[in-house]
Amino acid sequence: MISVDTAIKIVTDKTEPLQSRAVPFENTMGLCLAQDVQSDIDMPPFDRSAMDGYAIIAEDTAHAPVELTVIESIAAGYMPTKKVSHGQASKIMTGAAVPEGANAVVKFEETEDIQTDNRVKILRSIDKGSNISKKGEDIQIGQTVLYKGMVIRPQEIGILASVGKSYVEVFPTPTIGIISTGSELVDVESKPSVAQIRNSNGYSLAAQARRLKADVEILGIVKDTKEEISGMLQKGLKKDILILSGGVSMGEYDLVGEVMKDLHTQIYFEKVALRPGKPVIFGRKDKTLIFALPGNPVASFVTFELFIYTAIRKMMGFSNPQRITIQATLETDIFVKRKRREYRPALFCARDNTWKVSPVEWHGSADLLATTRANCLLIVREDAQKLAAGQLVDVILLD
Ligand code: AMP
Ligand code: MG
Repeated sequence: MISVDTAIKIVTDKTEPLQSRAVPFENTMGLCLAQDVQSDIDMPPFDRSAMDGYAIIAEDTAHAPVELTVIESIAAGYMPTKKVSHGQASKIMTGAAVPEGANAVVKFEETEDIQTDNRVKILRSIDKGSNISKKGEDIQIGQTVLYKGMVIRPQEIGILASVGKSYVEVFPTPTIGIISTGSELVDVESKPSVAQIRNSNGYSLAAQARRLKADVEILGIVKDTKEEISGMLQKGLKKDILILSGGVSMGEYDLVGEVMKDLHTQIYFEKVALRPGKPVIFGRKDKTLIFALPGNPVASFVTFELFIYTAIRKMMGFSNPQRITIQATLETDIFVKRKRREYRPALFCARDNTWKVSPVEWHGSADLLATTRANCLLIVREDAQKLAAGQLVDVILLD
């Protein structure tokens, strides 16, 4: 049995980023760049007014107040036609090009219109360069503005638009197939008979993968027979990642591991020192990564967040693909049962200016409802004896 940290490392090592592709920039939100991006322009592209006001020669205001003659009005999107000389001013709007001769913009609030013959009174003296954004002060032509590996957020979308990068090379999201195994499973529309339960894992796993933008197909339910499992598993081999739930424990009808081996799947691990979720198989068949998770809903949920989360994000080009942990102050004592790493559904919140965490009431790995009252997983480390209220503990934020 290997540790959770070793298992996550194996997943990271055995997973490769997908082949990058060029995508319309608007559709790249949340993806990782697979190329550096250069600017084809200066930003600002010209000396630009940062205010609505008057473009003037700063030295003219040394003995303000002073009256100047207004020679034109420059709107954003139009080039100035007149040079500003001493004693003159051009009315200018935010975003317009500063006219030749002028070296400062004084905002309207610091001026007074004189009703007669196009004159303006400048009320205060103003420094050279005031309210002018210099050509190229933010971005220079040819400059690398975004780098390979960066995650695209709204601000990066804006930069791609600014530099005219209408198609950009990104790492795509993986295709994922999900198979639910178990002869007791029925689908959502059915009313289960006494010996049956509804398939919930198929849907919660699909939602977990879709939250990461993966392209998910729910392949359906198979009975606990080698034929059915093997048939569906082989159908799923066109996907980048295939997820199975159920049938990986020690029971007589837990056949998923055997089927994977019969199909000559390369197995990287089969058991992790983890609660919930000890039996979890990770392997590769051809180009498809296969994860076989335990059937209990919370075990399937947690093992996805630890292992499949990491694989999806590695395929998507993230440089730190695994879940990050942060620390919070524990609000209640926790008594530790086993020497396996535990992940407990817990509630994380801000109280008294710090981050606090407390476990929610939870009856074990079948109790999915408890996770609806949780927003994080509280980590009880392998070597912990007892965790006392007031101490810092590691948590993984889920939402
Ligand atoms: P298994 O890992 O196949 O031994 O299943 C462990 C427990 O999880 C059993 O009680 C199953 O009925 C339940 N289970 C298995 N698959 C699912 C599923 N897709 N949805 C909900 N519960 C499941
Ligand atoms: Mg089963």
